[in-house]
Amino acid sequence: MSLSQIAKTISASPTLKLNEKAAILLAKGDPVIHLGGGEPKSKVPMDAILSTAAHLNTGEVRYAPADGIPALKKAVIRYTEEFYGKMVAPENVICSGGAKQAIMVAMQAILNPQEEIIYPSPYWVSYPEMAKLCGAIGVAVLPEDGTFYPRMFDIEQRVGSYTKAIIVNSPNNPTGAMYSEDFISDVVDYCERKDLYLIMDDIYHRLIFDGKKPFSVYKFTKRNIEDSKIIVVNGVSKQYAMTGFRIGWAVGNKKVIEAMANIQGHQTSGPSVLLQKAAVGALNGIQSSVESLRCTLENNRNVMLEMLGAFEGVKVTKPDGTFYCFADFSAYEKSSHKLSAMLIDKVMVLTVPGVEFGLEGYLRLSYCGAIKDVTEGIERMKWALDPNSPNELYIGDRKLVREWA
Ligand code: PMP
Repeated sequence: MSLSQIAKTISASPTLKLNEKAAILLAKGDPVIHLGGGEPKSKVPMDAILSTAAHLNTGEVRYAPADGIPALKKAVIRYTEEFYGKMVAPENVICSGGAKQAIMVAMQAILNPQEEIIYPSPYWVSYPEMAKLCGAIGVAVLPEDGTFYPRMFDIEQRVGSYTKAIIVNSPNNPTGAMYSEDFISDVVDYCERKDLYLIMDDIYHRLIFDGKKPFSVYKFTKRNIEDSKIIVVNGVSKQYAMTGFRIGWAVGNKKVIEAMANIQGHQTSGPSVLLQKAAVGALNGIQSSVESLRCTLENNRNVMLEMLGAFEGVKVTKPDGTFYCFADFSAYEKSSHKLSAMLIDKVMVLTVPGVEFGLEGYLRLSYCGAIKDVTEGIERMKWALDPNSPNELYIGDRKLVREWA
């Protein structure tokens, strides 16, 4: 079969593939524990449901403007004022099918074939593939000091004549690291000096712990939004547990937003009006669910961290936010794919191999599920990996026997 050059280079999303695998095993009745997930398990805010239902009840669900309905743009403008201290106009906002599409159309609007977009590593699995979809090249930059906290020095070394943009995701998927204000300030300053685009993937910005507060990238620029090449991406998926609604947005200068809207208009004609209404409900409604989710995640993180701490050989960095922990299991197995496959086969615990995020020997473990899944999942992993474990483990009435070293 003759497929396009681009299609041949694009691999399936490893996290979506794992979700399918978990669903198949669960449907078979296997007691799988999903520590691979990327979505909170809390309920969708009632205001989101009511707002969609009201629109659905009209019986008229039509095409909407490709760059977003006015009500959602208005809610995003209010959100941008509240969380970023920035006043923007409707022409500075595009609403997309998830933050994913917002990032994708942003890249399509700014990247030429062969140009490069830089991101700190470990990185979200989709960045390199999205760059490839533009015919462009993703360049991952691993901090030289072995931490998950990049310095501008690390990035500068990789900037060349083909570099067009930098994308920063903080707090970060998969490490949970929230980058410092100093680092973001340095990135803004550098991008402005070098005339580079800066995409801020802020999808987890309210899900942060230990008393940390979200801060605005606009704090570090004196430029007017129309003279700025900063594009801020956010959405309802994570903070409102609305992953299935597929609504995200981007804020940027009018020219870049218009280009993104033109592209999106031909791709999808924009997200469904029903789902945009839901996002309006979530953004304008009662906000308590966000704080309650944040508290639950902080507690889950603490439990996971404590349990992993008791795991000899595992190295963990405390996540500042998100719902992921990126732990170094290389003392047990150097290949993260092999280790992840072993854990699902032997003890039915789903994890994501670190190599998918650019770092071999690590596993990404999610704590977005129920606390008992977190504890049982880590217990099973410990049983499977610790050579001093008892020979047998019961999962319900299933007896597992440890026949490996
Ligand atoms: N950026 C990052 C870093 C993510 O982890 C995700 C979701 N996994 C997204 C963007 C996309 O989110 P959405 O569901 O809004 O498309």
